[in-house]
Amino acid sequence: MGFEHIQPGPPDPMYTLKYKADNDTSSEKVDLGVGIYRDEEGHYQGLESVKQAESELFKADPGHDYEMTTGNQDFLAQASQTVFGKKSIAFDKLTVPQVASVQTISGTGAVHLAALFIAQCMSSKTAVYVGVPTWGNYRPAMELVGLRQLEYPYLDEETRTFDHETTLEVIRTAEPSSVFVLQACCHNPTACDPTPAQWEEIIELLHAGKHIPLFDMAYQGLGDGIDEDAYAVRAAARKGLNMFVCQSFSKNMALYGERCGALHVACESSAVAANVHDRLRCLLRWEVSSAPIYGSRLANIVLQNDELKQTWEAELGTMRKRLGQLRRQLFILLTEKFQTPGDWTHITREKGLFSYLKISRKQCIILVDEHHIYLPENGRINVSGLNSQNVMRVAQAIDSIVRDE
Ligand code: PLP
Repeated sequence: MGFEHIQPGPPDPMYTLKYKADNDTSSEKVDLGVGIYRDEEGHYQGLESVKQAESELFKADPGHDYEMTTGNQDFLAQASQTVFGKKSIAFDKLTVPQVASVQTISGTGAVHLAALFIAQCMSSKTAVYVGVPTWGNYRPAMELVGLRQLEYPYLDEETRTFDHETTLEVIRTAEPSSVFVLQACCHNPTACDPTPAQWEEIIELLHAGKHIPLFDMAYQGLGDGIDEDAYAVRAAARKGLNMFVCQSFSKNMALYGERCGALHVACESSAVAANVHDRLRCLLRWEVSSAPIYGSRLANIVLQNDELKQTWEAELGTMRKRLGQLRRQLFILLTEKFQTPGDWTHITREKGLFSYLKISRKQCIILVDEHHIYLPENGRINVSGLNSQNVMRVAQAIDSIVRDE
């Protein structure tokens, strides 16, 4: 058999959107699509802390030898402290160590590795529950390794708030020992997270059902702060839950292309963690052989140096502040200047990089095709793509498509 029978794969709507936006030469173009933090000019924004780490690394010149299969151990210690906290119970446990941590090809690689581990080392019959709408890569990641993804509503569409009651009911009635994929902060695409009190209830029920949360943490620091955004993970650790944490440094260190991330698996004991770590070592060896070196070296330099870490946290603070200001500008323009019909209060409540606009698929397509405003068809916009030059035009375009409906 040759290759003639091979058919193309399903299209990636985000790739198609990016391609279209990149090739639009109109001066009117506003790219609110792909989830990268953009500066006021709409470009990629690198971080000063990371730039300083780059020059330190350049001076140290450590060469390009293979990294260990499971990754840079110093980076992993820093990365796990960033997730679990330095003084938390979880970190005390880590010193035992009760958490198996390995380096991954960023957050996507961590989700894949967790899914592969579940399918290979636990049971391929494990049910994986995911609240929808959600990040589009979970389903293919689960299906790729033969796991079943079961979906439930994450959002109360009417109020644009997290559907806590449905989530609790699903956990209560789930098959025992199921896996729940939960975004730890800055939910993509809805920008709605459970409150700390809601997380406590969720964690209580997960514990009662012996379920395993798979926390996906792609935006730590872009919601309320590094520690605040880790609330759910740290609460689950305090409760002693077994869990997966998929950590990414793409967004919070602007290290998108370096593919820098980690998978942490919290286990019931250090002996169990050692076995889990060893199985992860095998899966990594067979799939990628050894970890990439550049991004993890940079992240480690930032995280282990108090001064650079402070600079990094301050930079995240500035990014959060700007996102908040842009949300308010858009909200005020829609509600006061244009008095656009509809409830837009969700815009200022939302957390993180995105806003999940209450507009239809058809309206999104009109924004792209007629207004050069690029966003996916679910109405999610990258708030950092707004700026003082374009926010008025965006609000006006939203107003016009809403009124034309
Ligand atoms: N998880 C969520 C919810 C995301 O939105 C993303 C990226 O957009 C990722 C994980 C993975 O990102 P990366 O592979 O760059 O870490």
